[in-house]
Amino acid sequence: MRFADIPGLKETKDRLIRSVKDGKVAHAQLFMGREGALNLPLAIAYATYLHCLQRGESDACGTCPACAKNLKYIHPDTHFVFPLSNIKGDKDEDRFRADIMKSWRSFLLENPFGQAGDWTLHYGGEDKMAIISKEESREIVKALSLKPFESSFKVMIIWQPEAMHPSAANGILKILEEPPANTFFILVSNNAERLLPTIISRTQQIVVPLLFDDDVISYLMGTEGADREKVVRVAAEADGNLRLAAELMTLEETDHHSQMAEWLRSCYKKDFPRLVSFAEEFHDFDRLQQQTFLQYTLHMLRETLLAQAGAEELLRSRGNEQKFIRDFSKVMTVSRIEKTQSLLTEASGNLERNGSAKMIFLHTSIQVSQLLNS
Ligand SMILES: [Zn+2]
Repeated sequence: MRFADIPGLKETKDRLIRSVKDGKVAHAQLFMGREGALNLPLAIAYATYLHCLQRGESDACGTCPACAKNLKYIHPDTHFVFPLSNIKGDKDEDRFRADIMKSWRSFLLENPFGQAGDWTLHYGGEDKMAIISKEESREIVKALSLKPFESSFKVMIIWQPEAMHPSAANGILKILEEPPANTFFILVSNNAERLLPTIISRTQQIVVPLLFDDDVISYLMGTEGADREKVVRVAAEADGNLRLAAELMTLEETDHHSQMAEWLRSCYKKDFPRLVSFAEEFHDFDRLQQQTFLQYTLHMLRETLLAQAGAEELLRSRGNEQKFIRDFSKVMTVSRIEKTQSLLTEASGNLERNGSAKMIFLHTSIQVSQLLNS
């Protein structure tokens, strides 16, 4: 992964490149972003740039021996730490652990913008809380005790440090207190509010924003068979989340539109049996589909707000979506829309923390139902 492989984020990239040129790379950095932010790819591109033997003005060269290894995720001085959950089925646990780096590399190669849920799916993990275990933190300490192999320093990328088991977190904390001279730590978090404040305070923070719609559009237009009208609509729905945008491209709009419309109608009519069956259907979606549904609903709520504010020309919806917005506007006040938005955002966060999808969705449905009937 090089900076050029990541759409947008020019300011953040420039800042990182400048830190290398000025010789001011902090020993412990925290790349924080919201769900869908490209902070992991950025950390990897940064490591590649740091190790590159012929650094260019704005990117790693991509061809030197260090780049060749980093692009295949086999550079011996780029270390990765990531969470794992138990594996599904009767796979041999020891074998699985031994092969995990292979899985990790193929995950990064196949899903350059993959997120936590994609990773669990990739190695066949259980749909439970994945953690960075105490054993894992021992591995970190072990890796740090070794001299760099090929470079003059090591880069250690810790993905989802918020998933660290408390004993692992304490180990890391000690290291961050007195970081070894030849190691750069990059913590990559999409849930930084769950990190120990002591970890945050020992790192230099880099906030990685979500992409602009235009960056998402340019990226999607480069993919096979992209239709501009659909790309523009999907970019608006994804709201800067590239992974979500790619997923939305594979879906037909009517899928979630009719589901969302029926769900909100059921909330409004206090049709609890239907809401229970909705929660069951929702539970059977995979994580990405669940998030897609919530994001799409949030998008339609934003569009309804715009319509109510009289900003019809800003609306990106069309056809049956516009009809929905008109009908929906009759029962929705600004305050109801805003409250529904925060309920859905909360549900999205709870899903990210691996709560039970059925319970989360049912709980949200009941709250929205009360809100619409208040
Ligand atoms: Zn290079």
